[in-house]
Amino acid sequence: MLIKNGLLVTMDAQRRILRGEVVVDGDRIVEVGKGDAGGAYKPEKVIDARGSIVMPGLICAHTHLYGMLLRGASLNIVPPTDFSQILQRVWWPMDEAMTREDAYASALVGCLEFLKTGTTCFADTYSGPNSVDLSLDHIAKAVKEVGIRGILAYEVTERHSSEEGERGVAENVRFIEKIARGGMDKVKGMFSLHASFTLSDQLMEKVRRLADKYRVPLTIHTSEGLGDLYHNMERYGKRTVERLHDLGLLKPDVVLAHCVQLNEDEIGILKKTGAKVAHNPMSNMLNAVGVAPVKAMLREGITVGLGNDGYIFDGFENIRAAFLLHKVHHRDPRVMDPQTVLEMATVKGAEMYGLDQELGSLEAGKKADIIVVKPDVLPTPLTPESVLGHLVNTVDGDDVQTVIVDGEILMENRRVLTVEEEKVNAVSQKAAEELWRRLSAIKPHVEYPKPAASGGE
Ligand SMILES: [Zn+2]
Repeated sequence: MLIKNGLLVTMDAQRRILRGEVVVDGDRIVEVGKGDAGGAYKPEKVIDARGSIVMPGLICAHTHLYGMLLRGASLNIVPPTDFSQILQRVWWPMDEAMTREDAYASALVGCLEFLKTGTTCFADTYSGPNSVDLSLDHIAKAVKEVGIRGILAYEVTERHSSEEGERGVAENVRFIEKIARGGMDKVKGMFSLHASFTLSDQLMEKVRRLADKYRVPLTIHTSEGLGDLYHNMERYGKRTVERLHDLGLLKPDVVLAHCVQLNEDEIGILKKTGAKVAHNPMSNMLNAVGVAPVKAMLREGITVGLGNDGYIFDGFENIRAAFLLHKVHHRDPRVMDPQTVLEMATVKGAEMYGLDQELGSLEAGKKADIIVVKPDVLPTPLTPESVLGHLVNTVDGDDVQTVIVDGEILMENRRVLTVEEEKVNAVSQKAAEELWRRLSAIKPHVEYPKPAASGGE
């Protein structure tokens, strides 16, 4: 396959931006830049990328595909006033209402949305206390149908009981062993822990040992809201990252989601242990938890990737949010240049899951996960000098024209070739409708006082 006439944002070690061609043979990139100048190749397929950006597919470092079913949901609840209440009133009733069929339907529509907006690889955590067993098979089925890459895990928590925790561990072990038997090249497994405030030391230590045994990544929500931090300070006399470190949890294969409430000592621990961070700026804004100290983490050389936390699936919107948020937070327009943010969404995302030899950049020998983006840049030109600025300021997911994963074209000129979009929409709409109906019948776990002035509902 020959992709010609494009402006190549390679994200390679030199971060080169080239005009030229990309040659793909089978599932691999074999040439970048020079391309077919000598006429040596007999391409079976030629993609003309004139006026377009050719770049590696985006990598979403942290998501919850089932969040798709909550899109814009108007839930009949007393409005939460902080993140702990958001978990208790929105996410936890929802995950308890989820069925395995809902897991499949949400994964199908979530993967389709990723595909159509240029994300070719993601790390997903599913939570569903009443749909634990085999849930990862249902999600994997959807990922395979759409054709992008997924790293999947069931979210281990002891929020109801320790037995619930063990069931979650067992689902991950079952799925990881199934993946190891082969047959699902684009789907991988990992371990996911909910957060330290719903887990015992014993279970976290056990999952650490299992991640070592199976050599898979381990992810955990870390100091997203203040509740996590206060829990650990009160019960253990330690900040969240300190507790995780003392348990021996932190190693280079660990991805900590959020890390909003971190101090300099904790950032030092991340640096020392090589643990990585998945930054979710839009979710952090939505949940009003604060701004993660990303500038300080990058200064210390910590690997930071970009996630959506199950909220906005268009990777370019998340790129823009990360680009803007830290400028306003630090009142300094120099914070977060375009290249740094694009690294978070590509090479750094690959690095944090140990996939940087295979994914994250356009380089000979890497997997052919490539997107062709045709932005409407008028009235300014698209040039090697302006392309990074356009990627963070101008481009939307809808500008993604063609998506290639593992050397296979999954979407061409915005036509999805792997699944029928209407069928996906019908399946997921039905699931969402029924889930919302079930949710509206559920009483909140705890009766909260109604807000004084607004009168509640
Ligand atoms: Zn999350």
